[in-house]
Amino acid sequence: MNISDSERVASVLENLKYESTPDIKEADLVVVTMCSVRQTAVDRVHGLIPKFKEIKKINKNLKTILTGCVLKKDKKIFTKNFDCVIDTKDIKKLPKILRTDLVQKVRYRVLFAPGSYLDITPKYSNKFSANMPIMTGCNNFCSYCVVPYAREKEISRPAEEIVCEIKNLIKNNYKEIWLLGQNVNSYEDVSCMCDRTHKNIVINFPKLLKIINNIPGDFWIRFTSSHPKDFSEELIRTMAKCKKYKPYLNLPLQSGDDKILKKMNRPYTAAQYKNLIKKIRKAMPDIALSTDIIVGFPGETKKQFENTAKLFKDIKFDMAYINKYSPRSGTVAEKLKNNVSKEEKNRREKVLTEILKTTALSHNKKIIGKEITVLIDSQKNNLLFGKSEQYKTVKINIQHPTLKNRHLVGKFVKVKATDALSWSLKGELINE
Ligand code: SAM
Ligand code: SF4
Repeated sequence: MNISDSERVASVLENLKYESTPDIKEADLVVVTMCSVRQTAVDRVHGLIPKFKEIKKINKNLKTILTGCVLKKDKKIFTKNFDCVIDTKDIKKLPKILRTDLVQKVRYRVLFAPGSYLDITPKYSNKFSANMPIMTGCNNFCSYCVVPYAREKEISRPAEEIVCEIKNLIKNNYKEIWLLGQNVNSYEDVSCMCDRTHKNIVINFPKLLKIINNIPGDFWIRFTSSHPKDFSEELIRTMAKCKKYKPYLNLPLQSGDDKILKKMNRPYTAAQYKNLIKKIRKAMPDIALSTDIIVGFPGETKKQFENTAKLFKDIKFDMAYINKYSPRSGTVAEKLKNNVSKEEKNRREKVLTEILKTTALSHNKKIIGKEITVLIDSQKNNLLFGKSEQYKTVKINIQHPTLKNRHLVGKFVKVKATDALSWSLKGELINE
């Protein structure tokens, strides 16, 4: 989402004929798009301030703007250290702000990838894989999370606009479309016209997925992030039917203990989550599954963590984002005692990482010897790197001399998987 915000800022600035520079020392304007989900991300923005002060001693014209997910309490502090702090929904107003408040210089740098602005056509930073927000905001209020405060209520973009943007990307040879949203599966476009029975047509996420899948072209569809409560039978059926949707899913569990899930305000039990995974795997046997876990939530006992570890082992994930709980200002959990020590959080993270190493490796080993399709994202001498349909990192050896000089970045290639590690696969290019 933050990458996507940055791409929209870049688009507005390029329309003003500003010129991008990779070096902030050369820039006259720096726009930081920040993330507030974890304190470490906020700390990184604080860490930039001394750097800006140093550069301002040499370049007195440098102006700094902060946008993205900024919490109210942080806004007060950052207003003192940035020339301007703006909401993401006001990105469209940048031209006005730049003309009135700030100098007219033309080299800029959008730093950091940590509503209505969504209809700005972004300057995509990648030439073959596009991050496309289809909704923003969150109505769920998980007790630990700042997103509902920082991004406010859910808003979905009109389906027509999304389809138009994707068609354009496909015309420009894009091969992968990521549909993004804090709760991407609760997408709902109610703005569609009435049908013949004078009923309003509502386009929910499964319907949108079907529509996108029917757009002609050779491309992959992926989406993130999902909430288990939005995973309906209709969605599972649709994912299984849509050929362009590729078999990788991140479905955040957060905890495998029912009491902790309740304290987190997550409306499901460990057994319900497990059952949901069973249904997903039944409909799509080759799907690669990843999840998000928070270790050390206030009051999480060793026994409760063991329940998470047990479920984590049972499900056998391909990948996971294991987060150590960090108290966020304004959330319900902030009022609870953050009583799991840093050392214990580190230990719990390590336990899950060790389980993941084993389960991921066992999934990857099953791929050895198979022919897989890979979207290449970089090339170095005789090596290619890319992602498989299951979103696994693949390192490929180019052995055939005729293939060495072909430019394969942004292309689909056929690969024979030859070896498996926990976090990646190795393979050889198949000469077609
Ligand atoms: N909407 C998704 C869901 O329902 O699970 C997740 C989106 S959230 C922005 C990304 C991840 O950040 C969460 O899944 C959670 O694991 C992590 N996260 C959010 N708040 C956190 C906190 N206070 N401490 C640690 N991790 C946190
Ligand atoms: Fe945060 Fe996701 Fe919960 Fe919304 S559903 S509050 S984004 S963790």
